[in-house]
Amino acid sequence: MRLDKFLSSAMGLGSRTDVKKFIKNGRVEVIGTDNPRPELSIDPEKSEVYFDGKLQKYKKFVYLMLNKPKGYVSATVDRDNPTVIDLVPENFLRFELFPVGRLDIDTEGLCILTNDGELSHKLLSPKNHISKKYRAKLDAVPKDDELERIRNGIILEDGYKCKPAIVTFDVENEAFYITIYEGKYHQVKRMFGAIGRRVLELKRVEMNKLTLDDKLAPGEIRELTDEELKLLQ
Ligand code: URA
Repeated sequence: MRLDKFLSSAMGLGSRTDVKKFIKNGRVEVIGTDNPRPELSIDPEKSEVYFDGKLQKYKKFVYLMLNKPKGYVSATVDRDNPTVIDLVPENFLRFELFPVGRLDIDTEGLCILTNDGELSHKLLSPKNHISKKYRAKLDAVPKDDELERIRNGIILEDGYKCKPAIVTFDVENEAFYITIYEGKYHQVKRMFGAIGRRVLELKRVEMNKLTLDDKLAPGEIRELTDEELKLLQ
């Protein structure tokens, strides 16, 4: 890859014109080359390129954790509403990120954005039974036998039999935690709907072994650490 393309498109340091100026002004150093020029051919994965003394590490894939706020669609484009992509900081936009799976517009919480199609497929494939944990506030407390029906695999209004789910009650917050291993349309709302309950608030708090960082306010976003990425995989 050309040096100017690497700095501009892959590292997002500015336009081609900008980075050509940086190179001309001596702000760019390439180990093993005395006088780097914009057209110098480099290996994005192996060459050691410094900008203002900082090593420019090439990333093919990016993984972001967003605390999705209500009112945002988990898609890349939408005609009527803002999307989660509108919350992505500008320096990540060149990666063409997309959300892994869908949360309803009124659901909050853990939303992973990436450009890694393989990981996304792995997390979404029904074959892999990836767990997703939600906190739900309901219109009224269900009876024990109704919760048992959800735990044992409830039948939805269209006849679909859900896989068994884990349901616990959080007394302090008067909320239910529910862990499911599939991802049908409006699944949690429909599961509680099947026992006559309405979900008033829904928040995803976990996906696989990765927990939403409770320091992220709704709308805030950050890169996953390497440890967190392992928990997600
Ligand atoms: N289940 C729902 O009903 N809605 C969501 O957004 C996610 C799971």
